[in-house]
Amino acid sequence: MTDRYQQFARSGLGRQIVRRLGLPNPTPLRRYRPGEPALGGPALVGAAEGGRLADTVHAVLKSAGIEALTEPVTEPSTQAEGERPATSAKHAALVFDATGIDRPERLRELYDFFRPVIRTVGTCGRVVVLGTPPESAGGRAAIAQRALEGFTRSVGKELKRGATVGLVYVTPGAEAGVESTLRFLLSAKSAYVDAQVIRVGTFDAPVVEPDDWARPLAGKVALVTGASRGIGASIADVLARDGAHVVALDIPAQGDELSAVANRVRGTALQLDVTAADAPARLVEHLTDRHGGVDVLVHNAGITRDKTLGRMKEQAWDAVLAVNLASQLAINDALLEANVLREGGRIIGVSSIAGIAGNVGQTNYATSKAGVIGMVRTYAPVLAERGATINAVAPGFIETRMTAAVPLFLREAGRRMNSLSQGGLPVDVAETIAWYANPGSAAVNGNVVRVCGQSLLGA
Ligand code: NAD
Repeated sequence: MTDRYQQFARSGLGRQIVRRLGLPNPTPLRRYRPGEPALGGPALVGAAEGGRLADTVHAVLKSAGIEALTEPVTEPSTQAEGERPATSAKHAALVFDATGIDRPERLRELYDFFRPVIRTVGTCGRVVVLGTPPESAGGRAAIAQRALEGFTRSVGKELKRGATVGLVYVTPGAEAGVESTLRFLLSAKSAYVDAQVIRVGTFDAPVVEPDDWARPLAGKVALVTGASRGIGASIADVLARDGAHVVALDIPAQGDELSAVANRVRGTALQLDVTAADAPARLVEHLTDRHGGVDVLVHNAGITRDKTLGRMKEQAWDAVLAVNLASQLAINDALLEANVLREGGRIIGVSSIAGIAGNVGQTNYATSKAGVIGMVRTYAPVLAERGATINAVAPGFIETRMTAAVPLFLREAGRRMNSLSQGGLPVDVAETIAWYANPGSAAVNGNVVRVCGQSLLGA
């Protein structure tokens, strides 16, 4: 699962060869370590006139211990096209409140703010644009706000050295719900989340900011399916690090690995096949009897049975749809009906970019993963009524056993065909799930965020 090309590209000889041939040279991404500062330097903050988020942005940066600048540190770079990029980057992040842009003519304000400073974004830096959801903006403002997507997606493709961009549409009235999202996007936790559009909406339940942002899930119970290895094991690690008691679930055949994970995170192991007819009832019983309910439910268990459609056996179709979609719906319904998902609860699905872009040999898998997106959209209003949320991640190429088994050429293509020129790590998916799970994310409902380094597939 090591990325040998990345190691080679950073060696003495490799660096020279890569530069001469113009090959991708992936920057090692900065990943979160407890105790480290939220951002490696100051953030430059700007706003289009008439914006409504300036106070919120400044308050969030202050609370996260990030220095906010309103003027650039240095004069604009004047280097000509083709010269080496600036090495003395001065801004760890650029944050722009574009909510004030009420007509397309004013999109020029994006250019005016970003052009002089875009090359000053540091290694693994962040660009965040804040807007109003076009559907809440109306008229010409809706057109201008929709245009922000094209801007941010292009910026993502231009940024270098592991830097990423995000667009956050904040519904009017939801300003108080934006902190967890801003903190996530600015931090190293979002290392592989690039060029995504996130919606922060209005909410009936109060946003409960965690007392301790380093342990936002203290006192919560989280169920993670498929937790014995790969991405699921990493989700268990991260949710436990954030303070949750993790119930780690997997099939009996994975019993030993499952126990090892449960012990490591000081949680509990539950051997269960999620497709078993009695699985929903057994989960209701287990979570009620042992924990009095559950706060976070992560549907991570998933399988592939790849074959082109004309050669696919019906068992392969049925098994994938059963594990990746049908079992999740049955479990959701049982937990909701028995009121086992507590108030402020979180359901989190694991989709895939295959569910967005489609993939040869994966009609069954892509159908199931697109179904997960449908699940999020359909349940979101139902959960909102209960003060709960449902969201999904859609991972791209993640370095796991699953992707290590992919033939070399395809594996290399998968790794490099994204703006960061590398595969993600299981922890990148886990951190995104932990952001959804955070009590401060009550206004983040119905989102599907890709963890794919801005993959070219389905973009
Ligand atoms: P993995 O095969 O390493 O882990 C999946 C886990 O699910 C295994 O431990 C397996 O035993 C468990 N599982 C399978 N069927 C089950 C069942 N019926 N009941 C209970 N547990 C069951 O895979 P991974 O790469 O860690 O993937 C985790 C999730 O992420 C999956 O949903 C996968 O589709 C999705 N995903 C992965 C990638 C990637 O690049 N690895 C990309 C996109 C999406």
